[in-house]
Amino acid sequence: MNLQADVCIVGGGPAGTLLGHLLAKNGVSTIIIERSAGVNRQFRGEHINAETEAILKEHQLFERIEELGILKMKKVEYFAGRNIVNSITPKNHEDHVGIHVPQAHLLTAIIEESEENNNFQLLFNTTVKELIQDDQGFYTGVKAIKNGEEISISSKVTIGADGRYSTVRKLAKIPTIELTHGYDVLWAKIPAPAGWEPTTRMALVNGHQLALFSQTGGFIQIGWNIAEGSFPTLRKGSIQPFLEPLIESFPELEDSVNEHLLSWNDFVCLKVQSSRCETWVEDGLILIGDAAHTMTPTGAIGINCGMKDAHILAPILTELLIENKIKSEHLKIFEMNRRNEIKTQQIMQVKQETSLLEKFA
Ligand SMILES: Cc1cc2nc3c(=O)[nH]c(=O)nc-3n(C[C@H](O)[C@H](O)[C@H](O)COP(=O)(O)OP(=O)(O)OC[C@H]3O[C@@H](n4cnc5c(N)ncnc54)[C@H](O)[C@@H]3O)c2cc1C
Repeated sequence: MNLQADVCIVGGGPAGTLLGHLLAKNGVSTIIIERSAGVNRQFRGEHINAETEAILKEHQLFERIEELGILKMKKVEYFAGRNIVNSITPKNHEDHVGIHVPQAHLLTAIIEESEENNNFQLLFNTTVKELIQDDQGFYTGVKAIKNGEEISISSKVTIGADGRYSTVRKLAKIPTIELTHGYDVLWAKIPAPAGWEPTTRMALVNGHQLALFSQTGGFIQIGWNIAEGSFPTLRKGSIQPFLEPLIESFPELEDSVNEHLLSWNDFVCLKVQSSRCETWVEDGLILIGDAAHTMTPTGAIGINCGMKDAHILAPILTELLIENKIKSEHLKIFEMNRRNEIKTQQIMQVKQETSLLEKFA
């Protein structure tokens, strides 16, 4: 099968799907290829900040996402033992500090809003294998495997929106510097007890941050920092002593923890790293979201950064395609627009990580 579009986006996560929607709305024919079978993702960034909320409202996407189900956070609280020692409350007449949006709801709403648009095509179960280049090395599309069969997509511009382990980035041999941060995160999800307020709760356990994120549908996502690389050793021991400080800090969770965290298999370990690519663009090729700049979990900004990339890139790329200016020197305008902000946010994450103890003082 040979397909053709102005833009081929590899990766139907938050950044790729939003970009596809916005480009199609601007009249740019767009094909997104996504290796998953649908919109369900396990343990991904699901908290959006006020800026992303405004972006989604600007593009008339927020209302549908809200209908599918979101949860507005009332505040962020920092616990020392059982005492709240610090809290962040809503600013400027707002009634919430961030919103939990399941990625399935976010992606479903964006896809539904794009369905009527003939410029928008999304292929699930489709994994990129190869980038196509012309004689001058200009990227002109991709080869992919869809349900076991090879397909080719010719495009004027290829977008790598395929996340932190980006295949597109690797195939294009774009160098990236990966930084570790001295910790990894264990994620788990448990049902919230009755009366659990939708608040983000942070505690310090043996010098490591334990975060409890309230989630839509009556769940709590646990994000527990552990020393980098320590999970294999940790999981050789019993899980009970590990869970004790969680129950001590939040006794109201005892039943849910005992019922749902029975073994280490109930946790997923995320290797924490941030990354910076040397360049985000080549002739006919752009990287966005985690593929261009993986963020650490600090401040839960990864999904927000990726969606802002899409919001900023869509009008720039639409204009450049009209003018047929798609060499790296032209596409660089997008990178210049975003790179400094991302760098500042990565520096801020490191500062927050090193001054963690102050928040609990
Ligand atoms: C386990 C985990 C937990 C996380 N927790 C948090 C958190 O709590 N808070 C937070 O802010 N951020 C978190 N993040 C980061 C956050 O999810 C990302 O920053 C955000 O999803 C970035 O969006 P994206 O669209 O750039 O990439 P992704 O969401 O990673 O989307 C990339 C998409 O590309 C697809 N794909 C990958 N390879 C291919 C291929 N070869 N061919 C076709 N498709 C492909 C993937 O299936 C995926 O749908 C977490 C990330 C992970 C991996």
